[in-house]
Amino acid sequence: MSMSMATSNHTLFLHNPTNLTNTTNLFPITTTRTATTTFKPISIKCTATTRTQAPPQASTQFQDRVFNFAAGPATLPENVLLKAQSELYNWRGSGMSVMEMSHRGKEFLSIIQKAESDLRTLLNIPSEYSVLFLQGGATTQFAAIPLNLCTPQDTVDYVVTGSWSDKAFKEAQKYCKPKVIWSGKSEKYTKIPSFSGLNQSTDARYLHICANETIHGVEFKDYPTPKNGVLVADMSSNFCSKPVDVSRFGLIYAGAQKNVGPSGVTIVIIRKDLIGNAQGLTPVMLDYKIHDENNSLYNTPPCYGIYMCGLVFEDLVEQGGLKEVEKKNKKKAEILYNAIDDSKGFFRCPVDKSVRSLMNVPFTLEKAELEVEFIKEAAKEKMVQLKGHRSVGGMRASIYNAMPLAGVEKLVAFMKDFQARHA
Ligand code: PMP
Repeated sequence: MSMSMATSNHTLFLHNPTNLTNTTNLFPITTTRTATTTFKPISIKCTATTRTQAPPQASTQFQDRVFNFAAGPATLPENVLLKAQSELYNWRGSGMSVMEMSHRGKEFLSIIQKAESDLRTLLNIPSEYSVLFLQGGATTQFAAIPLNLCTPQDTVDYVVTGSWSDKAFKEAQKYCKPKVIWSGKSEKYTKIPSFSGLNQSTDARYLHICANETIHGVEFKDYPTPKNGVLVADMSSNFCSKPVDVSRFGLIYAGAQKNVGPSGVTIVIIRKDLIGNAQGLTPVMLDYKIHDENNSLYNTPPCYGIYMCGLVFEDLVEQGGLKEVEKKNKKKAEILYNAIDDSKGFFRCPVDKSVRSLMNVPFTLEKAELEVEFIKEAAKEKMVQLKGHRSVGGMRASIYNAMPLAGVEKLVAFMKDFQARHA
């Protein structure tokens, strides 16, 4: 690849990340600025030091990075970020970044197809299901689901286990007749109901659950069987964190920004026979049929986000698939919950033990006045975003797939030390 040198006031040399050892792969980037009386153009020429200096390697970069316990957007795998970095400027010899590609060109088609194929492998998605890469976040799906799956007169059932399923229920009220058949609100969303006790409507078109409540930290460990209709699950915050039997669901949806990529991509896995019955007023961008028929390319999709999800899926496949991923997640969650439970009440997790989330761990301090100090000290130790959601307070450690065991071990060591100093 070559680049012609235009007349230039500034010449910056950047590495070609696709070939880190080849010093001939240094591209002069030129910018021209108009000289004024106050501005004297200078020529910045990067020296041999820059030419031979390799871009940050994992070992040096680790030192600069924090352990990010944010609920989403959340931490991404280091190796995925480094791979994206190495491909940012010139994707695999195409001469351009993924951000610059036509979404209809063969390069991007190969990216989206590989992403879908790896996701199908990971979740063992049966062929009678479509995978859609959409936009608008999981919040948009709160409307798209009733618009696509039922008529305004239809009854649908919602199990409300936290803020997100509550929001989904409220949005559905605009498009059909949803019923809350169970709510954990009176118990501050610390429980999942027993399935036998669920008072399901006999005529419900679907039964909606939130598989993992990101704010409250409650997670379904098994799934109810709908009496009628299909099971629909918001898996935004535990998507690809463990194996899931997709065939038990009519529709699974997830925003990518917790476990599988950046914000801006929403994944919908839908049984094909449920596609094609959208209500007449459904906007074209919310109609699953349109997206399915066009392989998620009806309009310009979030190309770079889909590419990043693809890199994450590839990484998960390389890790040995979701069984292996689940083992790691269980181990991380176990040491964190044990640290809380063994603290003699200094730390507390309000969630019923049998349904504690592997992904989002909310906890409080017995001495609530110390919470600000805890978060401040943790941040000094490069452990950030531990503040609980503004609606519930306390702390929350989100320990998604990409949070390394070392991050959780460091947090646990810090908690023990904090307790020793403040008990
Ligand atoms: N559902 C769950 C379980 C979530 O955690 C979130 C986001 N935190 C949403 C829905 C809303 O997602 P978005 O912001 O992508 O619309």
